[in-house]
Amino acid sequence: MTHPYEAPASQALFDRAQAVTPGGVNSPVRAFRAVGGTPRFMIAGTGPLLYDADGREYVDMVCSWGPMILGHAYPDVVQAIAYAAAKGTSFGTPTAGEVELAEEIVARVAPVEQVRLVNSGTEATMSAIRLARGVTGRTVVVKFAGCYHGHVDALLASAGSGVATLALPDTPGVTGAQAGDTVVLPYNDVAAVEEVFRVRGGDIACVITEAAAANMGVVPPLDGFNAELRRITTEHGALLILDEVMTGFRVSPSGWYGLDPVPADLFTFGKVMGGGLPAAAFGGRAEVMARLAPSGPVYQAGTLSGNPVAVAAGLATLRACTEEVYLRVDAAASTVARLVAEALAKEGVPHRVQTAGSLFSVFFTEDEVRDYDSARTQQAWRYRAFFHSMLSHGVYLPPSAYESWFVSAAHSDAVLDRVADALPEAARAAAAASEEDS
Ligand SMILES: *Cc1c(COP(=O)(O)O)cnc(C)c1O
Repeated sequence: MTHPYEAPASQALFDRAQAVTPGGVNSPVRAFRAVGGTPRFMIAGTGPLLYDADGREYVDMVCSWGPMILGHAYPDVVQAIAYAAAKGTSFGTPTAGEVELAEEIVARVAPVEQVRLVNSGTEATMSAIRLARGVTGRTVVVKFAGCYHGHVDALLASAGSGVATLALPDTPGVTGAQAGDTVVLPYNDVAAVEEVFRVRGGDIACVITEAAAANMGVVPPLDGFNAELRRITTEHGALLILDEVMTGFRVSPSGWYGLDPVPADLFTFGKVMGGGLPAAAFGGRAEVMARLAPSGPVYQAGTLSGNPVAVAAGLATLRACTEEVYLRVDAAASTVARLVAEALAKEGVPHRVQTAGSLFSVFFTEDEVRDYDSARTQQAWRYRAFFHSMLSHGVYLPPSAYESWFVSAAHSDAVLDRVADALPEAARAAAAASEEDS
């Protein structure tokens, strides 16, 4: 048996990957840059568990960054995928499954009267802002620092997720014009929103915000924040886009909308609704959606949009998400959040566990985190030691201090005991860490 910090089979794959793929990965956060060490190449997953190329088993606290709410290889979802694939994987014509998935979404989120299916959350937000600009005839998009909406050019300014993890400045490749049409404000700051609308209100097409911010770590909206955005955008004839790619169908059957029912003009969805395959959507009021081609002039399309296999996975997932599933996910999330807080408190590590529904993350700071600036004051260097200690004890955490943790309905108490067992040593490692080590 190799030392738990070593992973020779993963390292061999990573070496090959680095030769043929930039940084060895197809999405930056997977590369372990923020925590160091060898990214684990997974070969299988079942329920709450993952298995890597070196034959190690992990309790998965990432769940593919959200989609796997039922756990890996959930039998009904696997069967739905197999049935759909056996009937043909893509036709380039409409299919019944797309209608059913759209009906399922429309039935859950009241302000969403129509949806258009796409392949990724990025496509959903990109298309939603194009539609907002098309509908209003205005150019400016308002977003919040630390919110991530996929790698859409106009939305990468001060973005969360990998952009925050890698502490990237605004990314090269985005033109000044694209960045110039984006106004970035501090999250949870209503006065800043009022002010920008006072000065530029007539130019603003839309405000886009994560329904609850969870890509700079978890930073829930202050009470009434989303409702204030609704009021201000309405007053100025701008659209409100609530990005529920992460929260949608995860924090409740109707996503964040089920917890904080603010009627946005447009919503974006992804992750859970694709059941682990590439499917996402944007939707909203019928009168707004009617401006999309072919019923309206705003163009939007996709060869694989509404793909029959992806749609089958999404439908099977949403249909299996019963009340019991949400109760279990909520219970598992609050158990882990409590265990982490207890373990860190015991070792005197400054920390704050923040939650938004069943999303939660740990900040290594004692101060309340309500925006990106306060998120960045945390001692993120403690996370590296904490992360590797957990990993060596078979718990796979997000390889970044700026990402939410995720659980599934398959995270049983027995599995959470394994997390509990790993925590004391990880908390000691976090306590002993020093900034110079990182
Ligand atoms: C993950 C995410 C996206 C991007 O979705 P992709 O499928 O990765 O393109 C957009 N918005 C939010 C809030 C997300 O969490």
